[in-house]
Amino acid sequence: MSSIPSLESLHAMGAAQQPTYPDRAALGAAVDRLRTMPPLVFAGECDDLTDKLAAVTRGEAFLLQGGDCAETLAGVTADNVRNKLRVLLQMSVVLTYAASVPVVKVGRLAGQYAKPRSKDTETRTMPDGQSVTLPAYRGDAVNGFDFTPESRTPDPQRLVDVYNASAATLNLVRAFTTGGYADLRQVHTWNTDFVRSSPAGQRYEAVANEIERALEFIRAIGADPEEFHRVDFHSSHEALVLEYEHAMTRIDSRTEQPYDVSGHFVWIGERTRQLDGAHVELLSRIRNPIGVKLGPTTTADDALALAAKLNPDNTPGRLTFITRFGAGKIRDGLPQIVEKVTAEGVQVAWVCDPMHGNTFEASSGYKTRRLEDVVEEVQGFFDVHRSLGTWPGGLHVELTGDDVTECVGGGEDLLEMDLHNRYESVCDPRLNRVQSLELAFLVAEMLRKA
Ligand code: PEP
Ligand code: MN
Repeated sequence: MSSIPSLESLHAMGAAQQPTYPDRAALGAAVDRLRTMPPLVFAGECDDLTDKLAAVTRGEAFLLQGGDCAETLAGVTADNVRNKLRVLLQMSVVLTYAASVPVVKVGRLAGQYAKPRSKDTETRTMPDGQSVTLPAYRGDAVNGFDFTPESRTPDPQRLVDVYNASAATLNLVRAFTTGGYADLRQVHTWNTDFVRSSPAGQRYEAVANEIERALEFIRAIGADPEEFHRVDFHSSHEALVLEYEHAMTRIDSRTEQPYDVSGHFVWIGERTRQLDGAHVELLSRIRNPIGVKLGPTTTADDALALAAKLNPDNTPGRLTFITRFGAGKIRDGLPQIVEKVTAEGVQVAWVCDPMHGNTFEASSGYKTRRLEDVVEEVQGFFDVHRSLGTWPGGLHVELTGDDVTECVGGGEDLLEMDLHNRYESVCDPRLNRVQSLELAFLVAEMLRKA
């Protein structure tokens, strides 16, 4: 039986990327409150996801993981949650249909509220010419996006607020995915007017028509299409703020094992994957399926050491490596890692995050990404795995169900000068609906050949 390390012992390890809370008493009160809150997910659901990710590890399924870079408290509206779910369902239909591979669906949602930052502070020049330095925005779990001292001061009450926001989000997602909205027979209704008029949307219509015909056939031969009423959907986020993840880590009464019940799948970010660090320690103790982001500085030995610490029993489905090298680096950097990890017999699902290695600043100052670079990294990922005989197990993307203008390129040819039109992300740029659907068609094509 594995035990839960104390919060103090985790902090004593010198945890990276943690907020500095000025009000320690308020922090203690918020953590005490969180410890009494019900689980957001059940341990048995986490085990189900581990089983599904074991199929991904064996090369029998594909993971689609996507959502905002950073969720916001203000973003918890019915429309916003539905739109995100809808684009993920559409992408999943395209991938399943075009490649005949089961798709494991995981949202970056209902908990994705904390962000690692490259700097602790942010400095801006104010209209009066004064230079002002404040704590960096670390996500709505920690502080506010507004650039004022009040908003940027880490506030522990936010940990309770994001718990509540996650509960509301997950409740709606559960209603949508079990109550009929995600029924495969609704495949046409997920395509809305805006998308329908784009080439990717029209292509989707054609797929939806074929699926509808297949469902009619299934009904005609007497099979039960009620099977298609529900869809399995899981939540995920980066496990970053130790107070939150620790308070939500509980001993499961069935198995007497610790689970982080704040989400089904939690991952360790590129900046917190130190082998002797607090995040690796905490996640090594929980039984959820977990991920680790691997950037271009990762060595094969780093990956092996992480696998040994995080998955000592080598259980398939327990560990996912999410590689995020950048389009220009993946073909050179990824092979040695995959080769050595595979040669050692390590069981791991390989997933491509084609977003975080491809961010740049547009001349207008907006942080952006080119859809072409995103596609190029996914292509590199597929090529590397194909040449090594390993399975390109999934896609991890930042996207939204809305028509934002945050990433450039794609069929609609969004330009850098268009970015100001609807740039809404509080952190990294996300693919909009049409770009997401375009990516799904391109990845389906790659998957068909994998
Ligand atoms: C993210 O997923 O938003 C993120 C910060 O990624 P990474 O840890 O890979 O930089
Ligand atoms: Mn991000």
